[in-house]
Amino acid sequence: MPSCRACGAAAGDLVLDLGEQPPCDLFPPAGDPGPDPLFPLRMWLCGRCSLAQLVEDPGTKEEPAGVEPRALTEQAADAVRALAGAGLVRPGASVAEYGSPHGGSWLPLLRAEGMREAAPDEPADLVIDCFGLMHDADQRAAMAARAARLAPGATLVMQFHSLASILAQGQWNALRHGHFAYYSLPSASALAGSAGLRPGRSWSFPLYGGTVLLELSRDGAPDAGTEERTRREVAAGVTDSARVAGLGRAARDGAARLRAQLTDVADAGKRVLGYGAASRAAALLRHAGIDSGLLPAIVDISAVKHGRRMPASAIPIVPPDFLRSDLPDVLLLFVPDLLAEVRAAFPALDEHGCEWILT
Ligand SMILES: [Zn+2]
Repeated sequence: MPSCRACGAAAGDLVLDLGEQPPCDLFPPAGDPGPDPLFPLRMWLCGRCSLAQLVEDPGTKEEPAGVEPRALTEQAADAVRALAGAGLVRPGASVAEYGSPHGGSWLPLLRAEGMREAAPDEPADLVIDCFGLMHDADQRAAMAARAARLAPGATLVMQFHSLASILAQGQWNALRHGHFAYYSLPSASALAGSAGLRPGRSWSFPLYGGTVLLELSRDGAPDAGTEERTRREVAAGVTDSARVAGLGRAARDGAARLRAQLTDVADAGKRVLGYGAASRAAALLRHAGIDSGLLPAIVDISAVKHGRRMPASAIPIVPPDFLRSDLPDVLLLFVPDLLAEVRAAFPALDEHGCEWILT
């Protein structure tokens, strides 16, 4: 049985089981016939602190920083504006960042606001965690490390993809190896409490269907907005294992729907391509049992993936030229946040009347 990565409790419930999945960053050379290694991919909800968390991890290294989606860079600017408006971004004050291995640092924006980057281990006036904490296997130790960086009176701000929005939108494929925690306001507040921090204000953003930025400090108190947001999350079921287990149903339905859509496309004799060879695409394809018979190739702008294939299937990863030379009738987009920029970058798709499938 697992024990909680945040509070150590052993009581909890398995809420999502995606079966055996390849490690998240495995993209073998196209000529490698496999078989590829597979590991269980499961989510567990702590019965005490309500942290949704990854059960097993293969321990493989994280996906390197790739090209940042525009939605991510635009949201970073929005978030820094919100923090400046809240008086947390001040010229001359020091900042330390715990970033994501996938990139997306806010430091350039904060430097432009006149903030100074704290030296390693130097206490900072503002500590930023933007999708960083979720990558730590020991959640309690990672929160304690961030709290230890706070200068007297300083603030930690933590940004996370909200479990409430994962539930509301059935985003079961948010679950992946290397991502150890899926926070709600109740579970994030409990984790912060273990390091002597309390929630204060909070902000929400549409990124990934619902992202929360939470202010934490030693003498904080939730404002009316944070209390209301917490009530709404609890009402949405973030602390209720039966409700969170709805993700399993969403996974089965999502996989069956995609399989049916691609089967229809094939039966109609239409040409289909995928876009965005991300880890979440690998999990979805594997869960849906889709191979190159139904999806002949996936376009990705990252050159390091060209000449490679999806894990656990023989679907090749190809460069964007494929979208110019031989237009598909249907484009399956694995990262819906990319829709606007893919349309802008490849206007011929819409001119050709290309249909979109968003996963
Ligand atoms: Zn717990």
